[in-house]
Amino acid sequence: MSGPGRRPETTIFTTMSALAQRHGAVNLGQGFPDESGPSHIIEAAARAMRDGHNQYPPLAGIPELRRAIAAHQRHWYDLAPDPDEGVTVTAGATEALTAAILAFVDPGDEVIALEPSYDSYKAAVAMAGGTLVPVRLDAPEGAQGHWRLDPARLAAAVSDRTRLLLVNSPHNPTGTVLDREELGAIAALAVERDLIAVTDEVYEHLVFDGREHVPLATLPGMWDRTVTIGSAGKTFSVTGWKIGWATGPAELVARVKDVKQWLSFASGTPFQYGITEALASGDGFYREYAAGYQERRDVMVAGLAAIGFDVHEPEGTYFVTAGIAPFGHEDGLRFCLELPERCGVVAVPTQVFYLDQAPRAEVRFAFCKRLDVIEEGLKRLR
Ligand code: PMP
Ligand code: GLN
Repeated sequence: MSGPGRRPETTIFTTMSALAQRHGAVNLGQGFPDESGPSHIIEAAARAMRDGHNQYPPLAGIPELRRAIAAHQRHWYDLAPDPDEGVTVTAGATEALTAAILAFVDPGDEVIALEPSYDSYKAAVAMAGGTLVPVRLDAPEGAQGHWRLDPARLAAAVSDRTRLLLVNSPHNPTGTVLDREELGAIAALAVERDLIAVTDEVYEHLVFDGREHVPLATLPGMWDRTVTIGSAGKTFSVTGWKIGWATGPAELVARVKDVKQWLSFASGTPFQYGITEALASGDGFYREYAAGYQERRDVMVAGLAAIGFDVHEPEGTYFVTAGIAPFGHEDGLRFCLELPERCGVVAVPTQVFYLDQAPRAEVRFAFCKRLDVIEEGLKRLR
């Protein structure tokens, strides 16, 4: 965080999307789809506006959406949050994360997060006066390898001041989907050390090759100590609507709501109606969604590998990390700042997802773009 009188830093996404605009570059940086979600969902939000749903919603979200979120958790994971007390709608997952962190972290507390980790975690922990303690994932070996969590390293990071475990699976930016063994290690530690877990599962429906997304809250001993965060922006391709949610036991969700009322209070009434409709989608919608992205992942991974990037196939999300050492580059930030002008493509340096921000020979490409846009990006990179 910046001190008094200093301009706050802009996020890497703002910086890189501005560069994309300036250079007319193909934006494979910021993770937003270049196509809107299903038209009946858009129509449902428009209808809600026309029907006069244009004033504040209740703090926790409209009851219809809370019931739909609870039903979604039950249908997919056999979790049963109470729609009235165990669900709160938020201004995107970002607000849910920030509210949860502010709710549970006091000054001096430590928060353990996987590293690399999504950039808002560090900012929210700083706002709470806490300290982020990163636990590095092991980098993959070979093209078929995946980033993995070492349970011993995780356990060693816990101290008497640890308050919260901040988990993210499927994981941005690595694309790792934590398996049952990794999640089991996290759960065992949370129970043993009596920690609260906040789990960011915004890419829950984006898992590939028949893998399974396992919510942390489904593991033994975890329901009572876990706040699970989701986002409609990802699953329904409406990131600009900023509708997210937190679910869990009533006592924990009440504390998230206590903070949320002073952040946004509430937001997006007509969009909440749209997402209520979206969550009524049948299983086929989710299957097609994942299959569509798996196809784009395959095109992106094969294309980057053919160009010479050191690329690791993601298990989930719409991101892929790519090493740039084969091109003689050591600093992903420099590489990404030069790339738009040099070849008209935007990527994101993964070093921004590390606490030390040290140069890393690695960048992240987003493949939540139309296939022809991905092909054009690859052509320019070639
Ligand atoms: N968590 C992760 C891991 C993300 O990648 C993102 C955004 N891409 C968010 C949270 C924020 O989600 P939202 O746009 O719903 O605020
Ligand atoms: N979460 C998106 C990403 O990782 C970006 C969100 C944002 O722009 N803050 O690309």
